[in-house]
Amino acid sequence: MNRSIAPVARAAAAMLAFALPPRSPGCGEVTAEDHRFCMACWTRLDFLGPPSCISCAEPFEIDPGPGARCGACLHTPPALDSVRAAVAYGEIARQIAIRLKHGRRPGLSETIARQLDRLVPAEPDMLVAPVPLHRWRIWSRGFNQSALIARALCRRRGLPLAVDLIERTRRTPMLRGLGPAARAKAVRGAFAVRRPHQEALRGRRILLIDDVYTTGATANACAAALKRGGAAEVHLLCWARVVRGTSPSLDI
Ligand SMILES: [Zn+2]
Ligand SMILES: [Zn+2]
Repeated sequence: MNRSIAPVARAAAAMLAFALPPRSPGCGEVTAEDHRFCMACWTRLDFLGPPSCISCAEPFEIDPGPGARCGACLHTPPALDSVRAAVAYGEIARQIAIRLKHGRRPGLSETIARQLDRLVPAEPDMLVAPVPLHRWRIWSRGFNQSALIARALCRRRGLPLAVDLIERTRRTPMLRGLGPAARAKAVRGAFAVRRPHQEALRGRRILLIDDVYTTGATANACAAALKRGGAAEVHLLCWARVVRGTSPSLDI
């Protein structure tokens, strides 16, 4: 850069940083760095980790050891091989998911990707794909929030992304307010592997990305479609998981 311009550019950058300081993704308070939560939000976020059910990420009160499954998953084994979620679905997690979904803060996909980074399974050669929206919903909204998260995560980790691996073959009703059985019925058979990817899918490990895991109906319907298409394993990473007894109303 031209020497006489460099100080001007630095001054402009400093002014911009002053005008647009980094803000907490949860509450908008000024923070030291972009994508960092302020102390108040940090303490209110319920970060999830072991011990939890490998198949659905429901937290265990007592650690039964690695690879354990909860009663529900033992009774009806889900199509997903593993589920990991960054946080429990609480007020701040909900705000972030809603602001990303409605397009007010697309940069939140990077915030979420940073939280998912530590949860990426160790399995090699994973192909990343988002849970799809129906194309009518993409047309009306302009984007798929899970695809934004998947893209940000792939950028961070250098993982391959197949953004259109799965398609919704029909419109599914809003799942809001439905119980687990009704949700599973509503999305059953609603997904398929897109034709151009069918050959490449055989024997692959897939890392599925979603924003919120409620009962797992949608993600498991996607996993079932991927396995029908020949995928060897399907793992799910999501931002927030509804945890029994601790999460607010299922309004997402
Ligand atoms: Zn905050
Ligand atoms: Zn489970």
